[in-house]
Amino acid sequence: MKKHNFYAGPSILSDFTIQETAKAIHEFAGTGLSVLEISHRSKEFIAVVDEAAALIKELLEVPEGYDVLFLQGGASMQFCMVPYNLMKTKAAYLNTGVWASKAIKEAHFFGEVVEVASSKDKNYNYIPKNYKVPADVDYFHFTSNNTIYGTQMSFDPDVDVPLVADMSSDIFSRPIDIQKYDLIYAGAQKNLAPSGVTLVIVKREALNKSGRKIPTMLNYMTHVEAESMFNTPPCVAIFSALQTLKWYKQRGGIAAMQKDNIAKAKVLYDEIDRNKFFRAVVPAVEDRSVMNICFIMSEGKEALEADFLALAKSKGILGIAGHRSVGGFRASTYNALPLESVQALVDAMKEFEKNHE
Ligand SMILES: *Cc1c(COP(=O)(O)O)cnc(C)c1O
Repeated sequence: MKKHNFYAGPSILSDFTIQETAKAIHEFAGTGLSVLEISHRSKEFIAVVDEAAALIKELLEVPEGYDVLFLQGGASMQFCMVPYNLMKTKAAYLNTGVWASKAIKEAHFFGEVVEVASSKDKNYNYIPKNYKVPADVDYFHFTSNNTIYGTQMSFDPDVDVPLVADMSSDIFSRPIDIQKYDLIYAGAQKNLAPSGVTLVIVKREALNKSGRKIPTMLNYMTHVEAESMFNTPPCVAIFSALQTLKWYKQRGGIAAMQKDNIAKAKVLYDEIDRNKFFRAVVPAVEDRSVMNICFIMSEGKEALEADFLALAKSKGILGIAGHRSVGGFRASTYNALPLESVQALVDAMKEFEKNHE
């Protein structure tokens, strides 16, 4: 039976990505060797890194003066690398969930942190509005998509200070105005590649200004100068990322991805709003994520949660259990997820409603 993969991360990759990676595991670029066993300094592998960085620049229209890096340590390592490298004295953070809170915790090691607003009062089911970012901070950090709660800021905020964003779960889901940012980071395992690589897009001008001594591996400049080859990079994950990027380009680029994502999300949110058995976790339509769609049983129907999970499973629908801090269900509808899988979930919701009427 066809499986419909709604896992939040690691998560669905395109068939193209998986097939090309499988081929390269057998033989890579005509070398007679596997991509698992070839030097990262071979000319064939250097070409992979170069092409992946170039395609990211092309697809996201990254302006001059920015570097694309492939690092390790996940988005979680960026929580400390960002303030280590970019904070002189003070930074502002928007608290929209567990990931944002973890970033805030690390920032406290390096200076003053202004939490400009938080949506914790409602278990992070909305994006705070009308907050003020102080003019004297070194940067403003936000999480563009809150993977656990299904909220998203699908725009580049207008503030008078440089932006830094954790885009782990929605990078490549929409065009981005990169020039507003000093730095963007994203763990790759949600919308790009298998786990093991973290994408960073950084403005070179923003570096070497913190006045701090930074250990070599935690210094972005090390990786800028070495073009992500200071030490052994996660070769297979980068190879897979390149395949996904090629697939994005062939599908029409990021604007086409955005169009598809909005269409997929609409089909599912429309059914959640219509179906008497379910309701959306995020009430405000403008805050709803197109990448992680969270819903719960309607009031009084909570006892049926396990039944719906079982029905979904019987239809090959996998990975829709909600995060433990929200409960209910979460359908992650990343770029590689086809509309057909969303339709299968909607059909299961309709069948469930009919069975229980
Ligand atoms: C998954 C996720 C993280 C954590 O990523 P790791 O690569 O596991 O460190 C951080 N931020 C967001 C928004 C995420 O979705």
